[in-house]
Parts: sequence; C-alpha cells; structure tokens
Amino acid sequence: MTPVLRIDLDAFTANLAHIRAEVAPAEHMLVVKDDAYGHGLAPIIRRAWAASVRWFGAFDVHTGAVVRAQLGDDARIFVWLAGSDDEIRTAEALDFDLGVGDLDLLEDVARIASASSRRVRVHLKIDTGLHRNGIRPEQWDAAVSAAAAHQEAGSIEVVGLWTHLAEASDDEDDAAVTGFREAMIAAERAGLRPALRHVAASAASFARREFRHDLVRIGAFAYGIRPAGGPDHATLGIRPIATLAAPVIRIDDEGVHVAIGALHGLPSTLSGRVRVAGPAGPRTLLRVGALTSLIESWPEALIGDDVAVYGDGAASPTELAEAIGTIGEEIAVRVSPLVPREYRDG
Ligand SMILES: *Cc1c(COP(=O)(O)O)cnc(C)c1O
Repeated sequence: MTPVLRIDLDAFTANLAHIRAEVAPAEHMLVVKDDAYGHGLAPIIRRAWAASVRWFGAFDVHTGAVVRAQLGDDARIFVWLAGSDDEIRTAEALDFDLGVGDLDLLEDVARIASASSRRVRVHLKIDTGLHRNGIRPEQWDAAVSAAAAHQEAGSIEVVGLWTHLAEASDDEDDAAVTGFREAMIAAERAGLRPALRHVAASAASFARREFRHDLVRIGAFAYGIRPAGGPDHATLGIRPIATLAAPVIRIDDEGVHVAIGALHGLPSTLSGRVRVAGPAGPRTLLRVGALTSLIESWPEALIGDDVAVYGDGAASPTELAEAIGTIGEEIAVRVSPLVPREYRDG
C-alpha cells in the first residue's frame, strides 16, 4: 500500500481560466520547472495546451525538450538556465526562447547562433535587486549595445526584456520596477524594440496590475498554491489541484499508521504541528517516520482508510508550509517521484 498524489485536471483548467481573465491583456506563461511543481510535467502541459496556454516557462533545457516533444513546434518555450555550449546548441535546435542574464553567455549564444541558420530568440534579463542572476545595471548599456550589434549581424533576435522580483516587500518591488523601466529606455536607445516585457510571477501578477506588461510568468497560482502569509484561495479565485493521500496500514495503541513518510517527501518537521484528514475528520499528525507516519486515532479506523495529508478535505500545501516556516511550493515539489500521480480528467 502506497501513498498517491491525486491531481484534478479540471481544477487546473479552472485556475488557468481564472489567471487568463485576471491578467489579460497580458499573456500567461505557465511555469513548469521542477516537474510542474511536482504535479507531473507531461499531463500538466498537455492539459494547459488544450486550455490554450501557448507559453511555457521551462527553466532548464531538459524540461524544455520534453515540452517541445509533447506539444510540437508551435509552443513557445522559455528557458533561462542554459550555460554550456551544448545547452545553447540544444536551445537553438529546439527553437527555445532563451533567457540571458550574463554578458559572457550573450557572447556564447551569439557565437553559436552565427554558425547556424536560425536566429536565436533572446530575452535579456536585468538584475533589479535579487542578485541571483541577471545583468547588473552598471553593465546594462554594454549588454544592450552588444545585443544590438549581434542582432544587426543576424545571429540573435532580442524579443524580450525581463527581470524577476524578490516579492519581499512592495517597496523593493517598486524599486525593481523603476530599475526595469530604466533598462527598457536604455534598450530602446541602443535600437532594441523587444515585443515582450515580463516581470511578474504569481503574487505580483495578481496584486500589481502595473507589473504585468506583456507576459506574466505564473507557476504557483496555476497549481492552486497561494502565497504563505498571503491572501486565501477564495480571494485569489484559485484552488489547489492536488491531494496527497495515504492508506491506513496499521492500527495499534499508539494510533493509526499511514503509508507515507519522510522518504516520500513529507517533511518530518510537520510532526505534531498539523492536522490531516481521515474519514472521521481532522486528526493530528503525531509523527513522521521514514516510510510511515502516525496520526491520532479514531474509533472505527480500518486498514485501507484513506487519509489526506493535504488537498481534498484537508489543509492546503501552503497551510502545511506555514506550520514549518516555508512556502507551499516547497511542500509540493518535495513529493517524491516514488509517489504515483493519478490524474482525474473529467
Ligand atoms: C519559479 C519562477 C516563476 C514562477 O513563480 P511563481 O511564484 O511560482 O508563480 C517565475 N519566474 C521565474 C524566473 C521563476 O524562477
């Protein structure tokens, strides 16, 4: 008896429709890194495609290649972690949109692209304060003039300008967006006219209309994961799409043992801090072991009873996250590949 992650694809479609209405006329790029936040890449992107999502934020080349294979030539696939020559060649061959946040990488892309017949579509990234990656403001003028020269020479086409926000405070985000505006002006001065400007992920897309620009890169809200400490699902108009459940495998004096543990991705720090949902209602999660967990008993407990750790009838991933000081995405992506995914496709 094993745990299972049940994914409601109709709920996913409803979230996508809500996002589309909320951010229009900006377009939604569905972020699918980390195996679509643990929900399983292929079924998620196929459903998103059927729901008219055309942009996919793949993060890495491998994920992008799966999206291309599944969805064909018309999908726009944004990859922002390609560093080696091999990765750049793959990005070129598979017609990805490439995020470039580094001057050396820009030169590598231009060199590889000039040896091929295809122009590589580049989205230049400005670092507006997160200091993870992105071209520093003091190097931006040099970057946009180099990019303009490569575009002139025919190796690349600068189709996008972008940045990523810390989403730590409104003030920092405001400062970041001011920095982004200055970067857009400098790019224009260098002769670049990229059609796509993108800044916002889930939270800022909903909360800050002025951050949406042409495209928003949304992962969490599409999967129904609300921000920790933020607005509730009803306010956002989204709902969780996954239920993590496990069967009862043993009942003894300690309580009820269910077939899910730390090796399936359940953080052991949840012990004693949250309630899970059994047939008789919420019960405290007493202890997370390696492959099993102990929960508070109920009178008619039976082997095989279904217990939801999060999702249907239970807490949301974000509620679990809040109990241990992390974010809902972290709970979702930790669910191990050992846990089978089941899709409800109504
Ligand atoms: C993960 C990621 C996103 C999506 O963020 P959510 O908060 O999950 O919507 C957007 N942009 C970049 C660069 C990311 O790494």
